[in-house]
Amino acid sequence: MNLMLFGAPGAGKGTQAKFLIEKYNIPQISTGDILREAIANNTEMGLEAKKFMDEGKLVPDSTIIGIIKDRLAESDCKEGFILDGFPRTLAQAQALKELMATMQISLDRVISLNVPDELIVGRITGRRVCSKCGASFHVEFNPSKEENVCDYCGSELIIRKDDNAQTVKSRLEAYHAQTAPLIDFYTNMGVFTELDGTKDVSDVTKDMIAALA
Ligand code: ADP
Ligand code: ADP
Ligand code: ZN
Repeated sequence: MNLMLFGAPGAGKGTQAKFLIEKYNIPQISTGDILREAIANNTEMGLEAKKFMDEGKLVPDSTIIGIIKDRLAESDCKEGFILDGFPRTLAQAQALKELMATMQISLDRVISLNVPDELIVGRITGRRVCSKCGASFHVEFNPSKEENVCDYCGSELIIRKDDNAQTVKSRLEAYHAQTAPLIDFYTNMGVFTELDGTKDVSDVTKDMIAALA
């Protein structure tokens, strides 16, 4: 199953991806996680990307497309994958389409988690992420079982550097200007399903599983 989770920053893509990994036994491919790992490893690509991420701007398409090309070629993607946070521009969507055509695979479904901008700030400022596995929690809406400890791997939870009210504004602007046009792109491909992302985490999971059945 080749899936994509779509939505504004903080819509719940990473949170829902965790359930799909378990259900379908396919990897989550989060370009944000891959970029943060590159930053942690002080690679040239990471240092370049960091400037954009800290400002809440999108990292250039050429960097992102290169990341995805390499990642989809890895053996764990053979049975499928969950794209999370990619594509974010029409150029990325076009590149993905061409790449998947070369690989003779197709996208089964794009699940869009719809959450209005007014709710996004609260989601992002209360977000805590695992320093090791990237799992996402929320101090109020989706707390970890033990404070500041990841439910999945036991590592420490941290606040992402770009998770502040200032950056959220530019990230939402980038979303509306550059990413939202993909709604038409995937609707025209006949694979776009919209879900109400404002429901509780477990209700969104139920709707998502139903949409994929
Ligand atoms: P969120 O979903 O909360 O916005 P992500 O982890 O997906 O967070 O992305 C964090 C940042 O990484 C983005 O603001 C952007 O700078 C960069 N980024 C991640 N994925 C992409 C992408 N597909 N294209 C361009 N930039 C990206
Ligand atoms: P994205 O990957 O789309 O940027 P996340 O999955 O990291 O978003 O979720 C953003 C924040 O909102 C996290 O703190 C997460 O725990 C919380 N969250 C996710 N889904 C819901 C939901 N359905 N209701 C309330 N909070 C949620
Ligand atoms: Zn973890």
